[in-house]
Amino acid sequence: IEEIDKVIETGGYLSTLFHPFLTNTPERLQAMEEVMKHLARRREEGDVHFWKTGGIGDSVIHHDLGLGHESAGIIIKTGSNVKRLKVGDRVALECGIPCSKPTCEACRTGRYNACPDIIFYSSPPVHGTLRRYHVHPEAWLHPLPDSISYEEGALLEPLSVALAGIERSGLRLGDPLVICGAGPIGLVSLLAAHAAGAAPIVITDLDQNRLAMAKSLVPRVRTVQIQRDADAKANAELIKGALGQEAKLVIECTGVESSIHTGIYASRFGGSVFVIGVGKDFQQIPFMHVSFREIDLRFQFRYKETYPKAIMLVSEGLIDLKPLVTHRFTLEQGREAFEAASNPAAKAVKVQLLDD
Ligand code: NAD
Repeated sequence: IEEIDKVIETGGYLSTLFHPFLTNTPERLQAMEEVMKHLARRREEGDVHFWKTGGIGDSVIHHDLGLGHESAGIIIKTGSNVKRLKVGDRVALECGIPCSKPTCEACRTGRYNACPDIIFYSSPPVHGTLRRYHVHPEAWLHPLPDSISYEEGALLEPLSVALAGIERSGLRLGDPLVICGAGPIGLVSLLAAHAAGAAPIVITDLDQNRLAMAKSLVPRVRTVQIQRDADAKANAELIKGALGQEAKLVIECTGVESSIHTGIYASRFGGSVFVIGVGKDFQQIPFMHVSFREIDLRFQFRYKETYPKAIMLVSEGLIDLKPLVTHRFTLEQGREAFEAASNPAAKAVKVQLLDD
């Protein structure tokens, strides 16, 4: 066990340590059991540690941090260099502000979501936009037509995530599609995939309420309630049954390891699993299955140049975001809003803070 701890601490490989256990005398089996229990404890410490320290990946919170990056509002004052917008304009806020320097390869080549110096409101240490007044660079404000409300304007952010995913996934008219997870990201992905002509579409979730919401948004979608106790292959069988075939594309919107496995097992030979969800730092994949079936496993990080498209899709009526907002609070009721968002009994999808 000491040896194992040393290897874990130095980031080495454990496999060589197990060689002495290969001849299975009762003593060795007993020792092996202890080792396995120890490894399980180590894993738990890692997760608990992560949970208590607060942070996502390299993004760690050290001080108070204002949240919010899905926002829309009205301009009440402009700086002297502002040329395009004026007081009274209604706008949606794109909350990732890249450096835009010509020396930045990501910005220069238009892949600005990869800018290493991007400032993202609500990512530590930069406060978010859940506030009455906020100063925002003109270039990253998108004028809203009168037909789009502030509520919808705020939802252009998650829609942007979905549009970026759909575009990079290469979804085509008539592609059989599975969406894993019917949270807000899965639901906006469903709306976008429906508008893009995916057919048939299956959406999954553990929660029947979320699936009911999916069905009310897109009546032709087929829903599969994932069984917590079943393994990924069994859940994939349910999905394939509902889809009537194997999936050409899976858009994964949970980031949960078992759900990614389910998506992989539901894919056809040569299919793609496009992961929008984010989850644990390290995850396993059914490597040989992915390899033997030439399944493309791809990922999405935020978005670029999606707001103008999102505005057009909503204003032209191809995507209706309004039903996603289930709960509304004032800014002063912020705490209640967060409680509603985190309490499954509230059955919330999108909770919004409104300031008249
Ligand atoms: P959410 O937590 O509200 O929704 C996730 C849904 O997945 C829930 O309805 C939950 O019941 C369901 N779920 C959990 N385990 C499941 C399983 N095994 N099978 C099927 N469904 C399962 O989250 P959200 O706001 O919809 O976001 C979805 C994911 O997308 C999150 O991981 C989020 O962090 C990520 N995200 C990624 C990007 C990006 O740039 N890639 C941007 C925004 C959000």
